[in-house]
Amino acid sequence: MTATLITGANKGLGFETARRLIAVGHTVYVGSRDAERGRRAAAQLGARVVQLDVTDDASVAAAVRLIDADGGLDVLVNNVGIQEEMGDDGVVVGAAGLTAELMRKTFETNVFGTVRVLHAFLPALQRSAAPVVVNVSSGLASLTRASTPGGPAYPGVAYPASKTAVNMITVQYAKAFPAMRINAVEPGFTKTDLNRNTGVQSVEQGAEIIVRMAQIGPDGPTGGYFDAEGSLPW
Ligand code: NAP
Repeated sequence: MTATLITGANKGLGFETARRLIAVGHTVYVGSRDAERGRRAAAQLGARVVQLDVTDDASVAAAVRLIDADGGLDVLVNNVGIQEEMGDDGVVVGAAGLTAELMRKTFETNVFGTVRVLHAFLPALQRSAAPVVVNVSSGLASLTRASTPGGPAYPGVAYPASKTAVNMITVQYAKAFPAMRINAVEPGFTKTDLNRNTGVQSVEQGAEIIVRMAQIGPDGPTGGYFDAEGSLPW
C-alpha cells in the first residue's frame, strides 16, 4: 500500500488529487488546517484525515507522529498555496503596491510552509522503498516565461516569486536526495477558490499532472518542472 499525504486537501486541487489517488489504491491522508473541514472532506473521499497547518511547527510535528504511528509515508504532495495578493474583487497587487508584509505572508505559507513540511517528513520518506515528493508550483514561477516578451501578463510579484522559490527548493532537494523522486508541477489556470474561481480549467484537468507525478516510480524523473504537456522552462 502506498501511503500519501496531500496538504491542503480539504478542497480544490488537493481534494481532487486525493480522490484520484484513492481510486488507484493509495492510502490518502487529507491534510487540513481546520480539523472539521478535513473530517468532512475525508468522509466524502473515504480518506484518512490529519490536522496540518503548514505555518505551525506543532501541528506539523503532530501530523508526522500520527502518520509514523500508522505505518509511515511514501508520497508527499505539497499542495498548500495562497495567492494573498489577489483581492476579493480579483484585483492583483503588483510591484507598485507590494509590501514586505504581503511578501512575508505569501512566503510564510508557500515557501516556509513547504520547507517545514518537507523537513519534518524527511525521515519518514527516507524509510520508504519508493519515496516521492510533488511540489505544487505554478507556471507563473517560470523566470524564462516571465522575462520573455509575450509571456504571462500577470502583474503580481509575491505569488510568482514564492513559486520560483518552490522550484529552487525542488531542484536542490532532488540533488540532495537522489533516492527520492522530487518534482515541481504546474496544474494550469484552474477554477478554485485560490483565484476566486476565475480559472479556465476544471479541477479534474488541473489535478492531472499532480496525480501523474505522485505515481512515478524509482525510474521516473526527479528535479524537474512539469505541466500536463511535459517539461517547462525554469
Ligand atoms: P484552494 O482551492 O484555495 O485550496 C488551497 C488549500 O490550501 C485549501 O485546502 C486551504 O485550506 C489550504 N491552505 C491554505 N493555507 C494553509 C495552511 N497554512 N495550512 C494548511 N492548509 C492551508 O487552491 P487550489 O487552486 O486548489 O491550490 C492548490 C495549489 O495549486 C496551490 O499551491 C496553488 O498555488 C497551486 N496552483 C493553483 C492554480 C490555479 O489556477 N488554481 C494554478 C497554479 C498553481 P482552507 O480551506 O483552510 O483555506
